[in-house]
Amino acid sequence: MTDIVTIPYIEGDGAGDDIWHASKEVLEESVQKAYGGKKRIKWISLLAGEKALAKTGELLPEETLQTVKAHQVAIKGPLTTPVGGGFRSVNVYLRQIFDLYVCMRPIRFLPGLPSPLKKPEHVNFIIFRENTEDLYKGIEWRAESKESLIFLTFLREKMGVSLTDDTGVGVKPISRTGTARFTRWVLDYAIKNNRKAVTVVHKGNIMKYTEGAFREWAYEVARGYADKLTFSGEKDKILFNDRIADNMFLQVILRPEDYDILLCPNLNGDYLSDACAALIGGLGVAPGANFGDNVAIFEPTHGSAPKYAGKDLSNPTSFLLCGAMLFRHINLEKAADILEYAIEETVGNKIVTYDLARQMDNVRPVRCSEYGEVIKKRIEQRA
Ligand code: NAD
Repeated sequence: MTDIVTIPYIEGDGAGDDIWHASKEVLEESVQKAYGGKKRIKWISLLAGEKALAKTGELLPEETLQTVKAHQVAIKGPLTTPVGGGFRSVNVYLRQIFDLYVCMRPIRFLPGLPSPLKKPEHVNFIIFRENTEDLYKGIEWRAESKESLIFLTFLREKMGVSLTDDTGVGVKPISRTGTARFTRWVLDYAIKNNRKAVTVVHKGNIMKYTEGAFREWAYEVARGYADKLTFSGEKDKILFNDRIADNMFLQVILRPEDYDILLCPNLNGDYLSDACAALIGGLGVAPGANFGDNVAIFEPTHGSAPKYAGKDLSNPTSFLLCGAMLFRHINLEKAADILEYAIEETVGNKIVTYDLARQMDNVRPVRCSEYGEVIKKRIEQRA
């Protein structure tokens, strides 16, 4: 009997179409190969973002939310968020509605990938980004709006802080509860997966009661894991330390071998994810996942790359690696291994899309669909 593995998916906007079409059969083939046909993926197509708006008048239809809730996992392509007016980010909303408080972004160099580093093989870390607090909470008011004027008056009259009336304002909330549950999740992951170090990335020297508190609260939790963690480099324990965010950007370039897991508040994790992706070829190869206590949603770090929408040029690697992360999450380890191996072999043979080819000498890029076909064939032909 064939075991059906049901996976809800959101195709995504912009380049999401091309990426999905190049990836779907690769993911199916990985499962087919790994389990000799005894398991098979059944996809459930879900609407969100621009496509949902066009078809249903809603950005995030209730049916989409209910299906993700019922299945507890989903894989999604990028969704477009207009800058300035329009709607707030559907991506951020999805993370908030399912309380997906952990964002995980592995940054691992694969031989063959272009890199600005001399020894890119040392790059193998995971960025964990708190997903529900900090500036992404979106508490902000436009300059000279009624709300910002009320806020500025409050600051002037009650707090002795004087700002001009043409100031836009935002609030940066970071709580002990939010930081503690996030830190616990990441430490449990680090222990389960035999990682070697966890580094808190903060700007606590300047923002003492938000980022500084994040650092303090993370240490508070870490001290409860004293049997597994070390703060001074004892052998056979996971090193727990911290770096100021600006220094961290320098460290990942100059000393990547010293870092393993980076524990970040939301905004630091956002910036650092793209910067670190650049060390291993760019956003086209950077996967990600968002975890809560009940639901996990797997999505690439990159956005909808609107410039390349429908041109069959985008890189589906990030999405495929998200697929491998999802397979591991649902205990299809063998399918994940087969898929990752096929990607490594393909990139190692310099079969890459335009975003990577243009950073390499004498490499002709393949199309998004061709890249998917090559990987699928590799998996099919695997002994
Ligand atoms: P982007 O990630 O779409 O693009 C940044 C650069 O990387 C562009 O040059 C793009 O062409 C390139 N790029 C991205 N993905 C690529 C891929 N798979 N292959 C090859 N090249 C790739 O970021 P942006 O331009 O800042 O954002 C575009 C839209 O995507 C915005 O509406 C933004 O809000 C949204 N966005 C969505 C998500 C998400 O869905 N999780 C994440 C980030 C941005």
